[in-house]
Amino acid sequence: MSSQPITSSGSFASPDTPRRDLLDECVHCGFCLPSCPTFVLYGEEMDSPRGRIYLMRAALDGAPINEEMVTHFDRCLGCMSCETACPSGVHYGELIEATRAQVERSYRRPLSTRLQRWIVFSLFPYPKRLAVARRFLRLYQQSGLERLVRTTRLLSMAPKFLQTMESIAPRIGPRESIAEFLPSLTETRGTVALLVGCVQGSFFPQVNEATVRVLRSEGFDVVVPTDQGCCGALSAHVGRLDEAREFARRLIDTFEAHEVEAVIVNSAGCGSTMKEYGEMLSGDRDYADRARAFGDRTRDIAEFLAGIEPIAPRHPLEITVAYHDACHLGHAQRVKQQPRQLLSAIAGITVREISEGEICCGSAGVYNIFEGLAAAQLGDRKAGNVASTAAQLLIAANPGCTMQIASALERLGTPMPTLHTIELLDASIQGESSEDLLERLTRRDGSRTGG
Ligand code: SF4
Ligand code: SF4
Repeated sequence: MSSQPITSSGSFASPDTPRRDLLDECVHCGFCLPSCPTFVLYGEEMDSPRGRIYLMRAALDGAPINEEMVTHFDRCLGCMSCETACPSGVHYGELIEATRAQVERSYRRPLSTRLQRWIVFSLFPYPKRLAVARRFLRLYQQSGLERLVRTTRLLSMAPKFLQTMESIAPRIGPRESIAEFLPSLTETRGTVALLVGCVQGSFFPQVNEATVRVLRSEGFDVVVPTDQGCCGALSAHVGRLDEAREFARRLIDTFEAHEVEAVIVNSAGCGSTMKEYGEMLSGDRDYADRARAFGDRTRDIAEFLAGIEPIAPRHPLEITVAYHDACHLGHAQRVKQQPRQLLSAIAGITVREISEGEICCGSAGVYNIFEGLAAAQLGDRKAGNVASTAAQLLIAANPGCTMQIASALERLGTPMPTLHTIELLDASIQGESSEDLLERLTRRDGSRTGG
């Protein structure tokens, strides 16, 4: 996303042209290579940040955007691990997003790929359509059909991306409707709004319920706008920037109707995109200032809670947890310490670090649907590192990571219950015992083969 789009150059065309001055910030030192998941997997220069920057510059100089070039761009997870590692402060995220917008606009993908993308982007950014999918999925899991399909391997004839979607789907439990306004449970310290999120709201409603309970216990009135839509994160991630901007405008309109001091997000991918609205809409006269203000008001739930004085008593929980840094929280938002601080403040909790924590789990928005093989390899690698912590619970703050790692852990034969940071904090505030919590999670997860 360029705040000041330059005129078309080489194989790229305005708007959303990768900026040459940003490309020139790369001094080719290679410090980013060991933390790039695709370089770790393939060992190829063109699958590293430095190699991709080289390709972007080549296209800017007129090299055609061909299949090989697109393959290297597509393989990038957009995980921003390279930004964390880069000593020169290269804005790789901005560059790859703009490059993907160029690819989306000028490169014609094979029919099967276009069809996959059409299906995914006709479903995921639309909460009402996801609600229907949720009902089908719940029926599928509860009727015994899932067990039948898995034991007979019926789905092996279906397209790969459908097999992936089926394999990573979480257990679907009941969903309570959340009122639009929920008052503080104690003297009010302020009012905040909550983004429900498309995937979070449909497949992990318990995370939103826990978020609301904790915020109310901490003295906040919570507004949950009923007509909120998608934040545009998934679209922005694959270069569908016009679509992402339209989602962003609608979300700003919706939330501006409520006077709040912060917009709280509990999904790392959504929060990272919302904080970038200012840049995303910088060329829109009607929205530029409002988008910047909206981004400035956006807070990840852990970031928000770590910044206030806690008033809700925490009860002890004797549990060992492994904390997973979601890339869009740790790398993109630089929120790393705050979740650990919240967890460590609960008496009895032991937080274990995961080896190679900077390497993406392979979820990356819809990456695991479109790039199944690489995503599975990264998922297995992450699951192995998680399993070797010997923790009782995995804590992750992004629905995509939760699904990806939970399914990889099961594939590995080392299933581990997974919770969002806020769910563990909620359990502590509610006074749930460690035994009850672990038993509840065992019941919730059951066996993914239908048991
Ligand atoms: S965003 Fe992630 S996958 Fe892409 S180049 Fe950077 S480190 Fe590699
Ligand atoms: S660490 Fe930064 S400057 Fe060095 S090669 Fe990677 S992107 Fe370029």
